[in-house]
Amino acid sequence: DIGITADGPWFEIGEPALPPVAPDAHKYSRGLVHCLTGEMPGAMALAASAAARSGAGYVRVSTSAPIAGLPRSVVQVGDAPLADPRIGCLLVGPGLGKLPQLLTLALTSHRPKVIDAEAIGHVGDPARLKGQDAVITPHSGEFATLFGELPGSKAEQALAAAAASGAVVVYKGADTLVAAPDGRLGFAPPAPAWLATAGTGDVLAGMIAALRARGMPAFEAACAGVWLHGRAAERAGPYMIADDLLEWL
Ligand code: AMP
Ligand code: MG
Repeated sequence: DIGITADGPWFEIGEPALPPVAPDAHKYSRGLVHCLTGEMPGAMALAASAAARSGAGYVRVSTSAPIAGLPRSVVQVGDAPLADPRIGCLLVGPGLGKLPQLLTLALTSHRPKVIDAEAIGHVGDPARLKGQDAVITPHSGEFATLFGELPGSKAEQALAAAAASGAVVVYKGADTLVAAPDGRLGFAPPAPAWLATAGTGDVLAGMIAALRARGMPAFEAACAGVWLHGRAAERAGPYMIADDLLEWL
């Protein structure tokens, strides 16, 4: 039970029940998020911080350039040991820039993954995501880049995109939807319009990666992340910046 009230195949996303922390937990069992970033790593500082504040036991970032603004507990590593079976979720996209090879690298890893931001534009063919156990988090521009102009309502487009890619699709915006390839569709309850500010999407991607690494299935992790993101924004208030969300998580 993840707190979603089902009403047919479509439902409003409700308050999630998050996985408990086992008394004998260690940092890896609580979830390792491995972040891959590139040319503009500041966006990943937000995403990785959000992952750390969303209950992942360990967050590390592969980057060639040092990143300012990471918590000291987030480890920067030069190389990316992406076959590491301890990786609960990979996160690629925030800060990536024009480095499609980092997406390709992520797609060679048999680990769950969250694909956001510039990485969505590097996918090319949605069918590349089949079998990838991926959550993708496009805003409308990124959605159109990957899937083209699909017919129908936003809900129908999200479901068609999930079917075409085999990924859980978080179609963001003022009316965020979460669609699964099996036809499940969650509507986010209203979130404040002041989320429309730079970096909030990076925070959401980090949150979903942490929840995935903590063992929630892809669709449930995506729904829970979207719900919590909206509630954090309500608490942060109308002059919030994306950084402020971190302290409300
Ligand atoms: P991004 O476009 O990647 O920066 O992500 C922006 C985040 O803010 C997403 O989670 C959107 O769903 C959210 N967002 C953007 N505009 C609005 C809005 N008008 N109302 C509510 N949420 C929004
Ligand atoms: Mg974004």
